[in-house]
Amino acid sequence: YKALAKAEKSGYGRIEFYIPDKQNHSYDELVLYNDMHEALERNQFEVYYQPIVDAKSKEIVSAEALIRWRHPKYGMIRPDIFIPIMEKTGFIVELGKFVLDEVLKQQKRWELFKFREVEVSINLSLLEIETGNFVENVIDRLKYHQANPELIKFEITEGLAMQDEERSSQHFIELRKLGVGIVLDDFGTGYTSFSYLKRFPATILKIDKILIDYIMTNEEDQRIVQSIIDLGHSLGMKIVVEGIETLEMADLIESYGCDYMQGFYFAKPLPVFEFQKLLR
Ligand code: C2E
Ligand code: MG
Ligand code: MG
Ligand code: MG
Repeated sequence: YKALAKAEKSGYGRIEFYIPDKQNHSYDELVLYNDMHEALERNQFEVYYQPIVDAKSKEIVSAEALIRWRHPKYGMIRPDIFIPIMEKTGFIVELGKFVLDEVLKQQKRWELFKFREVEVSINLSLLEIETGNFVENVIDRLKYHQANPELIKFEITEGLAMQDEERSSQHFIELRKLGVGIVLDDFGTGYTSFSYLKRFPATILKIDKILIDYIMTNEEDQRIVQSIIDLGHSLGMKIVVEGIETLEMADLIESYGCDYMQGFYFAKPLPVFEFQKLLR
């Protein structure tokens, strides 16, 4: 309602975003659209890293790269706001290349400064995969940075991966041949069939937060999560559960035999400096 009222005041033909929680103001899509090109040159994008831990030892084994935009007017904007705009305008392809380069550079620095090897998962939009030379660009960047492909994974959400199944599968098969991992993200939010799951070349299945939000009290959710973990394992995948916010959740989900965990209970997405402190 607030968004509507504001949009009406500012005239029709505009789209405004209303963010219901902390950031209680709307963003002007046109402003963001205009600013995003300069934002790359002005270094306003920053890759945050959220630790992913081994379910048993609770040691950090990898991280998910999550982009943030330090906007001069709006402050720190989260990707839910600007990624949809970038997907519409095609800018996401450029941003994706930036993220990949940033991550590969960072991994080199960690190697140089003798940190533990950290695998990093990078999120993809469908448009990036569909853009002609996606796989070639990845191969090119891996070579350029002399990177170990086994330390890179790409995440694609369940819904997106299904939209252009054949093509995205083909690309992912090529990447897997190089040693790059493939994560089926947000599992449990879409409508994946078993035959699809069998065909999709994922190495990791990431169970969405939505399936564990009520897991402490809902026995059906408990059985569903246990079943998905077993199913994923029987198809040769490792399982990450995301959105773990309490110790109780972590304990329960560990007892189901999941491999890795991610969530605010362990750590929020962090600027690289903070993430490194945890690594140490
Ligand atoms: P995602 O890939 O499913 O990432 C997980 C999201 O859940 C992140 O939100 C993370 O901050 C949040 N999260 C992690 N643990 C918890 C928890 O315990 N509780 C709660 N409430 N939330 C948790 P974030 O960083 O806002 O990213 C949102 C989405 O934006 C991502 O969802 C991903 O789809 C997309 N995204 C982020 N970075 C990139 C990128 O570089 N490229 C593309 N194409 N998409 C990106
Ligand atoms: Mg993800
Ligand atoms: Mg996810
Ligand atoms: Mg998501």
